[in-house]
Amino acid sequence: MSDRPTNRRMATIQDTRMESPRRPTDETADSRSGPATGTRERPVRIRASGIEKSYTGRDGDVQALSGMDLEVYDSEFFCLLGPSGCGKSTFLRLVSGLLEADAGEIDIRTESDGDRPTTSMVFQEKGIFPWKSVLDNIAFGLKMRGIDKQRRYEIAREYIEKVNLTGFENAYPHQLSGGMAQRVGIARAFANDPQVLLMDEPFGDLDAQTKRYLQEELLSLWSESKKTVVYVTHDIEEAIQLGDRLGVMGARPGHIKEIVDVDIERPRTRENLDIARLEALQTRVWDVLSDEVQRTVEEQ
Ligand code: ADP
Repeated sequence: MSDRPTNRRMATIQDTRMESPRRPTDETADSRSGPATGTRERPVRIRASGIEKSYTGRDGDVQALSGMDLEVYDSEFFCLLGPSGCGKSTFLRLVSGLLEADAGEIDIRTESDGDRPTTSMVFQEKGIFPWKSVLDNIAFGLKMRGIDKQRRYEIAREYIEKVNLTGFENAYPHQLSGGMAQRVGIARAFANDPQVLLMDEPFGDLDAQTKRYLQEELLSLWSESKKTVVYVTHDIEEAIQLGDRLGVMGARPGHIKEIVDVDIERPRTRENLDIARLEALQTRVWDVLSDEVQRTVEEQ
């Protein structure tokens, strides 16, 4: 983890309970089957308010985010969706502590149980060490946390099995396909057991079939772990396939334009999927996004 900037406050459950405008309840456990839980009352895990972030480039300042407010609930799968360049990755990096905001605050409610990291990030680029085996890559975060070798290999093997990489424990990244390498990144993030998992277009480089397969693996890991996930994508279909709620962002300077509840039953398998509802949601999200995409294209 990088150093935490001053405007990214950590609140523990014991001290600052971040009150949702809706009354918090314990209704967090059963979000994996039945209706998506976006409309239920839930405790807030991440709260961002009044975020401003600009970059200084060769051609002057770029205002990447302005007036960005967002609440992400406990254990939800939240997708941040928006046109290219609207500040999605910037926001994720602010939450992770890799970047510092110019103004505003990000609060992450943490559980004070031991040394679990607050966040882990999975990037589109593989982000795994080419000189380490699959096993050592997955065990890396656990090693950094001082977990003894036997236990960290035990945990890493558990995740190797969960992402179907059994038999590849001793392989090196150059011996893996893109999809397999990305599974190593995902397994490492889950094995590390962060309180919040941040994913930046992790499947952006993969072909459609591999992407679909990995999305299902990801949903299965998420549903076991009850982790809060913030997932960045520019793909409407992917966001609806994965998310409990979508934060649709406006073109630069980025901000949340609309929050959309994905009220489609899980599991969202082909046999189970309410196609009419899916299409209605796609149309609704596209209605919000299309002006933003047009503005982005016109600015290029
Ligand atoms: P997205 O993830 O939605 O594609 P980004 O957060 O990557 O958007 O970028 C938002 C805006 O900030 C873009 O215009 C991008 O060019 C600019 N930007 C991102 N990183 C930097 C940087 N390190 N220096 C200068 N400008 C940047």
